[in-house]
Amino acid sequence: MSANGTDGQTSARRKIWGWGLEGEGLTPSEIEQLAGTFAGRWEVGAGRVLEPPRVDELELRAPRLAAPASLAAAFSTEPYERAAHTYGRSFRDLVRAFRRDYAHAPDLVAFPRGEDELVSVLEWCGETGAAAIPFGGGSSVVGGVEPDVGEGYRGTVSVDLRHLAGVLEVDPVSRAARIAGGTLGPALEAQLKPHGLTLRHFPQSFEWSTLGGWIATRSGGHFATLYTHIDEFVEAIRVVTPRGTVQTRRLPGSGAGPSVERLFSGSEGTLGVITEAWMRVQPRPRLRAGASVRFAAFGDAVDCAREIAQSGLHPANCRLLGHEEALLSGSGDGSHAILVLGFESADHDLGPWLARALEICASHRGQVREEGKSDPAAVWRSAFLRGPHLRDAVVRLGLVAETFETAVTWDRFGPFHEGVLAAVRQAMDRACGGGVVTCRFTYVYPDGPAPYYSVYAPGRPGAELEQWDEIKLAASEAILALGGTITHHHAVGRDHRRWYLREVPSLFTDALRGAKAELDPAGIMNPGVLMSPAAARSGR
Ligand SMILES: Cc1cc2nc3c(=O)[nH]c(=O)nc-3n(C[C@H](O)[C@H](O)[C@H](O)COP(=O)(O)OP(=O)(O)OC[C@H]3O[C@@H](n4cnc5c(N)ncnc54)[C@H](O)[C@@H]3O)c2cc1C
Repeated sequence: MSANGTDGQTSARRKIWGWGLEGEGLTPSEIEQLAGTFAGRWEVGAGRVLEPPRVDELELRAPRLAAPASLAAAFSTEPYERAAHTYGRSFRDLVRAFRRDYAHAPDLVAFPRGEDELVSVLEWCGETGAAAIPFGGGSSVVGGVEPDVGEGYRGTVSVDLRHLAGVLEVDPVSRAARIAGGTLGPALEAQLKPHGLTLRHFPQSFEWSTLGGWIATRSGGHFATLYTHIDEFVEAIRVVTPRGTVQTRRLPGSGAGPSVERLFSGSEGTLGVITEAWMRVQPRPRLRAGASVRFAAFGDAVDCAREIAQSGLHPANCRLLGHEEALLSGSGDGSHAILVLGFESADHDLGPWLARALEICASHRGQVREEGKSDPAAVWRSAFLRGPHLRDAVVRLGLVAETFETAVTWDRFGPFHEGVLAAVRQAMDRACGGGVVTCRFTYVYPDGPAPYYSVYAPGRPGAELEQWDEIKLAASEAILALGGTITHHHAVGRDHRRWYLREVPSLFTDALRGAKAELDPAGIMNPGVLMSPAAARSGR
């Protein structure tokens, strides 16, 4: 298999059920090998490999809407397109796809070929009483793109933004670029590269996610300190709402009232479609320094990560892998936690920064190992890139395999972590008869880490969704009770809504509903995300 996880028989078409293009992913023999990794723990095997769905097997309901003649070329009712726009890429999405359950397939898929056509599509949705669901890369793991909007709509339209793509303008003096919302990560970086620039925003879903999706979900890149959320890089934004277009001014900063850009960052398609943004870009780094450090005790590694996060050194990578996480990613043997450290710059040598970070590690009993090819850091990076394909394969083996992520202040982290682990382990025992939960820090802030947990447990055929729902409920309740957030970067979508509404002050929710009533009076934009479909329509 090649480094990008292909078996060499790819087509240009995205899968309707999992990560990447048709033909990409693990080969049957690799899936069998993977089964061996879990065989000692639970009964999984090649005999139980779930077959992905084919379009011709699906029974999609007849479209409830017909595209208007004036916009016919912008719409599709092709079964492939409707299936490909039904789900994001969460565990729940995969399981339902394997069950051939495409009950919420959109009635129509729109592919507006420019902003004017997008305006017309949204106008038509408003007149028709159809819900409009913006679709970027479709990599949501929280039900953000699923056209599940309740009963109050005449039908659903998935609005795919692939034609609103490209780096449109570069300002090398201020170091900013105007980029269209539907631009996928690789195209965005390829078009900035000739200018010697980079957005330097690399979520694990980079290959199949878009600038507009990143801003709409406030995504986190894989750089682990300092600027991680995409919000920090947004200089100005352009949003097409059902009421009209909002365009903000390019400014390096502004104290003029609440930030307009930040109202739309994290709006998850509920206020309008982000068609463009001026983004702060950077020179491409050319100097790097890195190491990985082993810790026998997780607590020492946590204290070390905190001291580095508070030191002002700002490593690009400061990723702490717990013992089990290191084992399962192949970076360690399970006897140590591993801290992967990396610095990078376009300007200055990073030796002194790394040296100081390693001093901090040594003072917390860390054992240092310089970065090299067979180094745990290299193994971790390659596992990170292959992660989406591996996850699909693990689900095909019948396991309950999903992640959840959060952030919490350092003062609460110890009891928080213990409490979350205990709640998840109890739920796994009840629902699955056992399982493993692993932890890593995806980001570290001066005031707290963003822990990321992965769950692997034996699934019971036909009961996987209920099993995961029980684990997710326990995890989410523990997170909220112990002072964390329901999401650090995966967003709210439909799946996190009930916890999100408990986390934010209710007066803020009212204010957000008020903003939605102004910008989207008919409540057509992504109903069910952030607020209930009924709340989305309350402005009508
Ligand atoms: C394997 C995997 C790894 C991931 N890793 C990360 C990670 O490292 N960091 C991270 O933050 N997230 C990660 N995610 C989650 C997901 O990739 C992010 O939420 C991403 O930002 C979504 O971008 P997208 O273009 O795919 O948006 P979509 O999934 O298409 O949409 C997400 C939400 O944004 C809305 N939306 C999309 N485009 C627009 C637009 N132009 N205007 C308005 N609303 C819009 C949609 O309606 C939906 O509510 C991962 C997901 C997977 C499957």
